[in-house]
Amino acid sequence: MQTGAQATSLGTGLQITALNKVFTVGRKQVVALQDADLHTDQGSFLSLLGPSGCGKSTILRILAGLEEPTSGTTRVDGKSPKELRRAGELGIAFQDSALLPWRSVQSNIQLPFEVAGRPVDRDYVREMIELVGLTGFEKAKPAQLSGGMRQRVSIARSLIMKPSVLLFDEPFGALDDMTRQKLNLELLRIWTEKPATTLLVTHGISEAIFLSDQVAVMSPRPGRIKEVMEIDLPRPRLPEMMRTPEFHAHVDRASELLFGAGGAAADDH
Ligand code: ADP
Ligand code: MG
Repeated sequence: MQTGAQATSLGTGLQITALNKVFTVGRKQVVALQDADLHTDQGSFLSLLGPSGCGKSTILRILAGLEEPTSGTTRVDGKSPKELRRAGELGIAFQDSALLPWRSVQSNIQLPFEVAGRPVDRDYVREMIELVGLTGFEKAKPAQLSGGMRQRVSIARSLIMKPSVLLFDEPFGALDDMTRQKLNLELLRIWTEKPATTLLVTHGISEAIFLSDQVAVMSPRPGRIKEVMEIDLPRPRLPEMMRTPEFHAHVDRASELLFGAGGAAADDH
């Protein structure tokens, strides 16, 4: 829905303005999002943290055009969800890997080339398969893979076109810590090479701070943006930085926002 005066089509980056989403379930109304506002610069990395059910996936689904907002507008790099999909500049990886079961690993990863009607860059497909640690499984079907492996296929597929916009909904959720760390570093490397306007939903506080320019913390029902933290750590980000006082101060702040002062500073899992 357009709100006229607040249309933000000129802005780049993420432009989420007065976003509301109400779901009607039977006779009950669930306010999933209330007046959510988020604004970032083009090519910047924002992570979204918040308790389960606070509307994180709803924001991503609206940005990707998979869900209509009740009111408010979203633009990413000046494009509406529909324009974004049409431009072929969108890389999406969601919790549920959404692979085509009859296609092999390789064939799932190269699918975006076929959809775009472009020749498959076989070298890059091979490189991505190696990157996500699936060399040797090129011909395997999704049913023959573990959940974590399927997730890695989905991540490779989301990056294969080097999209300028990345929407990730807990893509690393099902992965073990080692793989998760490795993919975080690789994601950072790829993102540094070609900075995409990125929105990552994660439940990993350290992960969010390590990767992001900004971390938005949401509050539960109705889902609102509680605070946007600026992560002013220098780039390139190196794993050693996770041991610095500056890093820990950010982790403490995010924990406080999520769990309240003195709350359990539970991280990641
Ligand atoms: P999160 O990703 O932060 O866990 P969601 O965005 O998935 O939260 O959901 C936010 C709220 O909206 C929850 O209360 C959820 O139950 C509700 N919700 C999400 N999708 C639907 C739907 N399709 N129909 C009804 N309620 C929904
Ligand atoms: Mg979710």
